Amino acid sequence: MSPKSQRVLVTGGAGYIGSHTLPELMMAGHEVHVIDDLSNGHGVALERCRQIVGRDFGFSEADIRDAARVSEVIRAFGPDVVIHFAGLKSPSESIEKPDLYREVNVIGSLRLLDAMRAGGCQRLVFSSSAAVYGPPDFLPISEDHPRRPTTPYGASKAEVEDILVQEAAKDTTLTCAILRYFNPVGAHASGLIGEHPQDIPTNLVPYIVDVARGRLPRLNVFGDDYGTPDGTGVRDYIHVTDLARAHVAALDWTAGATGAREFNLGAGEGTSVRDLIRTFETATGRDIPFVVAPRRPGDVASSYADPGRAERELKWKAELTLTDMCRSAWAWGARNPEGYA
Ligand code: NAD
Ligand code: UDP
Repeated sequence: MSPKSQRVLVTGGAGYIGSHTLPELMMAGHEVHVIDDLSNGHGVALERCRQIVGRDFGFSEADIRDAARVSEVIRAFGPDVVIHFAGLKSPSESIEKPDLYREVNVIGSLRLLDAMRAGGCQRLVFSSSAAVYGPPDFLPISEDHPRRPTTPYGASKAEVEDILVQEAAKDTTLTCAILRYFNPVGAHASGLIGEHPQDIPTNLVPYIVDVARGRLPRLNVFGDDYGTPDGTGVRDYIHVTDLARAHVAALDWTAGATGAREFNLGAGEGTSVRDLIRTFETATGRDIPFVVAPRRPGDVASSYADPGRAERELKWKAELTLTDMCRSAWAWGARNPEGYA
C-alpha cells in the first residue's frame, strides 16, 4: 500500500515519460509540482495531464542548472521527494555535443541534488538508462552487469549514478532509487498524451507510427544478419504507463529505504524488429512496408533486462503487452497527427 500523500517535485515533467508519470502520481494521491524548461517538453502535455486527472498542479518553467531558481521552487513547494527526469536523451546527438550532455545531465543533476539537500529533501528517484551497460556480456542484463557506456549520453548517466552512490554512502539520510529504463514505448490510454519526437523519429516505434500514417514511405530495418532468431535487433520494450507506475513504486521505496540502489525497468522479454512490425500490423490493421538497410553503427544485437530486483524490492512488474504498446502508440499518433503542435 502507498504511504501517505507525498509532495513530489518532478523535473522534466512536460516530457514523454514525465508527463505519463504525472497522472499516476496524482491518482496515487500525491501532490506534484513540475520543473521543466520546455526545451523538449510541452505545456500542452501538462494541460492534458490536468484534464486526465481533473486536478491542477504547479509548474515552474526553469532550467535545472539554474541553482537559485530551483532552490526558490524547492523552498516554496517543500518536496518530500524529487523525481528527476529532466535531461538530454539522444545517444547520437551526445556524440556531436558531449560537453552539452555533461553540462545538462551531470552538472544539472548535481545542482539539483545540492538544492534539494539544502532545502531538506533527501529522497531522489533518478532516470538512468540501459545505455549505461553498453554491449552486453550476458543476457538478461541484471543490475550487477558491468557498465561500459559507448556514448557520452550513457557516460553522463553512469557518472550521475556514481555520484549518487558516493553521496548516499557518505550521508545515510540520503536515499536514491536509480532507475535504468530499457525501451519505453506507447502512450497513455486516453490518447491525450504520447511521445512527440522532433523531426524524423530515430526510435523504432515512433518511426513505425509515422509510416502507418503515411508520413514516411517505409521503415528501414537496420540489419537482418544479427545472431538473433530472425536476424533483426532484439530489445526490451516497456509500456510507458508501466514505466510511469514504476516511479510511484520507487517513490514508495524511498520512504522506507536508505542508500542508493539501481533497478532495471523492463518487461524482461526480448522482441525483435520483425516481431514488433508484425504485432503493430495485427494490433492496428495498418501495413508497415519495410526494407532491410545496413546495421546502424553502435547498435547491439540484443538487449533485455532481468527485472527481478524491481519485482522483489519495488513490488512492481510490467503488466501491459506489446499489443497494448502498439495500439496505444497508434491511437495517440492517429489522433494527434501533429503531436502537441
Ligand atoms: P523528454 O525529452 O521527452 O523529457 C525530458 C524533459 O526534460 C523535457 O520536457 C525537457 O524539456 C526537459 N529538460 C531538458 N533539459 C532540461 C533542463 N536543463 N532543465 C529543465 N528541464 C529540462 O525525454 P523522456 O523520454 O521523457 O526521458 C526522460 C528521462 O528518461 C531522461 O533523463 C532520459 O535520459 C531518460 N531515459 C529515456 C529513455 C527513452 O527512451 N525515452 C530511455 C532511458 C532513459
Ligand atoms: N530500428 C530499426 N529501424 C529504425 C529504428 C530502429 O530497425 O528506423 C531498430 C534498431 O536497430 C534496434 C531497435 O530497432 O534494433 C530499437 O531501436 P531504438 O532506436 O528504438 O532503440 P535503441 O536502439 O536505443 O535500444
